[in-house]
Amino acid sequence: MASDTVRLSPKASGFARRGRPWLFRDDIVVGESMPPRLVRVLDEDGRDLGLGITGASKLALRVCGPWEGTDVPDREAFFHARIDTAIALRAGMLGPEDGVRIVHAGSDWLPGLIVDRYGDVLVVQVTSTFVQESLDAIVPYLADRLSASSVVMRNDVPTRKREGLEQEIEVVHGNRKEETSIVEGSVTHTVRPLTGHKTGFYLDQRPARALVQSLAKGRRVLDLFAYQGGFALHALRGGATSALAVDQSVEALTQAELDAGVNKLEGLETRSGNVFDVVRELREKNEQFDLIVLDPPAFAKSRRETPGAERGYRDLNRIALRLLAPNGFLVTCSCSHHVDGPRFEELVRQASAGLPFRVATRKRLGAGDDHPALITHPESEYLKVLLMQRLDG
Ligand code: SAH
Repeated sequence: MASDTVRLSPKASGFARRGRPWLFRDDIVVGESMPPRLVRVLDEDGRDLGLGITGASKLALRVCGPWEGTDVPDREAFFHARIDTAIALRAGMLGPEDGVRIVHAGSDWLPGLIVDRYGDVLVVQVTSTFVQESLDAIVPYLADRLSASSVVMRNDVPTRKREGLEQEIEVVHGNRKEETSIVEGSVTHTVRPLTGHKTGFYLDQRPARALVQSLAKGRRVLDLFAYQGGFALHALRGGATSALAVDQSVEALTQAELDAGVNKLEGLETRSGNVFDVVRELREKNEQFDLIVLDPPAFAKSRRETPGAERGYRDLNRIALRLLAPNGFLVTCSCSHHVDGPRFEELVRQASAGLPFRVATRKRLGAGDDHPALITHPESEYLKVLLMQRLDG
């Protein structure tokens, strides 16, 4: 058997045929000690299942789609073709000031690679050794295809440690830009590619920001876990009478205030502190809001942390529902992989038990179209957003 071929166990062949993109070391029968590289994946009978990327961690093989013929293509051909397909999928989203996820890892058959575009700045995040070693075939091509003036590597994610990769942030193409901006729904957002959260911005929440903007007219808004006030700014653009943004980061809230100024939006108030304390204080003062956004960080980073995380979601949602004015809306979010959609809804159901008003589920949203969630890969559907409404009268 050629060294660039791996053969799967019968069980793993079934998984791969059903579209599961992640396979573990025990699933591989032949080709056990594999340096990170691109391989042909064969089922238990030697039939072709397309390409895969091998890795040095427990996650030994990530499948990355069919490829004509029986050979393994060279790295350029593979990455360039997959990048072209990813760009084509987002063709309608590439206005000069748009913020767009260009490559969403395994969902684009490019496991271990994230690429976000903020206008002419690209931010790349890598979690696979093979992708890391292939950056010379990836970065210049991306820069050229997307006319980038700057490419930043945001390789400061803990999952890199699984493959023994270093934590590093660096500019690998063009100029260093501490700040850039994108325009979304008539709101300009400052993005800090080198120091902001994630790759600089929470691009995945675009559909929920649009929803908030459409609901906000004449409403008093509370934006909990606001970061740079993304939701609050969209609410004000949508005609909210006021927006209170709460976050523990003074720096993020300062940026929210600056961005309100850039957008000539009035009515933003910020409060730094622990959301768990601030919501209790608001409740004690009998404050009420017509529209509340609750967008906490992933409370459950591992399965072990799930019970505590679930308690956190339940408590926060309960108190947020209690802060709603009659007929008010709650946009409640979870980005924990370990709390799936049905479980999150169950927690919100538990949070609403015994309240003196009815609570209706109005909408279910996820990440935007530039973050495709594969039905065969539940982990890719990490972001859950529910629009709840308090019903009175
Ligand atoms: N809603 C934001 C993203 C939120 S990310 C947006 O759409 O852009 C989560 C935010 O929660 C981070 O800004 C982090 O600083 C903040 N945070 C985490 N734990 C917190 C806590 N206990 N109290 C207040 N803020 C917290």
